[in-house]
Order: sequence, then structure tokens, then C-alpha cells
Amino acid sequence: MKRTEIEKLLGQIESLDAEEISKVKKVLARREGRVEGSVVLQEKEESVEACPHCGSKDIAKAGSKGGRRRYKCKAEICGKSFNALTGTPLARLRMSEKHIENARCMAARLSIPKTAERLGVSWETAFRWRHRFLRLLADRQPEQLAGIVEADETFFRESFKGQRSGLPRPSKKRGTPAASRGLSKEQVPVLVARDRASGATLSKVVKSTKAKDLEPVLMPRLTKDAMLMTDGASAYKTLGKAHGVAVKGIPANKGHKTSGLAHINNVNAYDERLKGWMFPFKGVATKYLQSYLGWHRWLDADKKSGKARRLLRAALG
Ligand SMILES: [Zn+2]
Repeated sequence: MKRTEIEKLLGQIESLDAEEISKVKKVLARREGRVEGSVVLQEKEESVEACPHCGSKDIAKAGSKGGRRRYKCKAEICGKSFNALTGTPLARLRMSEKHIENARCMAARLSIPKTAERLGVSWETAFRWRHRFLRLLADRQPEQLAGIVEADETFFRESFKGQRSGLPRPSKKRGTPAASRGLSKEQVPVLVARDRASGATLSKVVKSTKAKDLEPVLMPRLTKDAMLMTDGASAYKTLGKAHGVAVKGIPANKGHKTSGLAHINNVNAYDERLKGWMFPFKGVATKYLQSYLGWHRWLDADKKSGKARRLLRAALG
């Protein structure tokens, strides 16, 4: 756009009323989403090195289709065409320019109906997109936790929200408030472990807080020099002995008092942020709990801007 045209446009903005401003904002947000989305897509296109079907590096550019660069695999046994999104979770999603906006909605923790409205898609589409992203985040855990690692368990009420059939126990009586409908009295344990120096956080639903159920989740991720700080539960001491990892138990009644390096304030604070963030959802269905934990990890990991772009990058691998 020419400089004079921009100046003219900016001048016109000055005379907008409130309703017009909100319309312009919507157009700008959509436009920004498309620009950011295309930046991420372009990065991905520039990094294409191998065929996603067979792994061959013998590939050639083959024009473009739907605004995306096409490639053709030159391996004799394969010969398939693909683009930068082939083989990624976003490959079959239409309207890819809306994904950055969807990622923004997730960063803002918008509800499904609000997300649907903002994206101009149906409720079902918004639901499907959200859960596709959530599945990506669910198992994205830190590969290793080093140095001082604070570990603790936190609990969430078991919930069968949204499940109409196959309930393991009789449905709630009439008159149960909507907020607690489908919540049982069972508590689902979640292990949270935080690398104090890097802030890398593991959060995972576990079967129980017994050593045998914590072991496969926690122990493979601890480096040899790790020092585990916990609330003093015997399960961790058992695991420490078995794996040769130093374990320090901090008595629970010490609360938030710090005594030098021996504390679990970091993981406690994380638990509190997690609980606070989960609260407005009023009891996440247990089958989605792991996904929501991943969602929160992603949001909590980096307070800087550009979350939406990072989510898209994560989705593209
Ligand atoms: Zn191939």
C-alpha cells in the first residue's frame, strides 16, 4: 500500500464511532491471524526436507495448490505428492488461516461457544479443533528434570460430565446444581514435578500416589544429579532408594516457610495456579483432564507474547 493511501486510511480511522471501531477490530484480528498463520506455514515450508510418506530426501517442488507449496517424492517406491502440512495434525483441517485465531482463543481460555463465534465456525467445528490441539499438548511433557526437582500430588474431583451413558455409578439425584453435575466423590491424583531452575514442569494423571504408579512417570525423567524435594511421602523415599536419587522430605506443616533451598514452594505455587485456572471450568471431565493439564502447562510455560504462534509451531512438529 502507498504511503499516501495509508495516511488517508489512518485519517479515516480517526472519525470512526464505537460500533465501527469494533467492526474494524474484527477485520484486523482476522487479517493478523492470516498473516501470522502464513508466517508459521512459510517457516514450515522452508524446513521441508523429506517425504512424510516414506522419509526419502529425494524430493522436488511441484508447483502450488490452494496457496500451499506442493512437493513430489522422487523415490521410485513412493512417488507421492505432499505439502508442508501433510503428516501433521493440521493437514486435514480446512481454513488453516483460522488456526492461529483458534490458538489465540485457547490462550485466552475462551469457551467453545465464544470461540465458535469469534472464528465464525459451528460449535462442533470449534470443539473438534480445540480437542485436536489439546491432544497434541496432552503428552508434551519435559524430557528431563534436573537439579532440584520439587514433586507433589494434587487432586481433582472425578467427573463424568458430558457422558450420558456408561456411568460407573447411578446418576445424580434431581436438583443437583449444574456446576457439580457428574462430579463424583472420587479424587483423581495428578503428579506435578518441577525443575526449579528451568521451570520445566511435568503434570500427569496417575493411577494412585503409590510408588509403583509414580515410578514410570517420574523416574525416567530425573537426571542422575537430580535432588527430589517432596512433602515427605514415603513413596518418593522408596523410589529414591531404588533409583539412587537423593530425596529430601519437607514436612507439610512447614507450609510456605522457606529454610534455604529445602522447600517445595515452587511446585505448591504451580498447583495453586493450576487450580485457579481450572476453577472456571467447574469440574473438567476426567477423560479430558490430561489434555487440560497440557493446556495449562503450555500457557504457564512462557508468559511472553506469541503463544498462539508457538502453539501452531508445536502442532506442526
Ligand atoms: Zn516418498
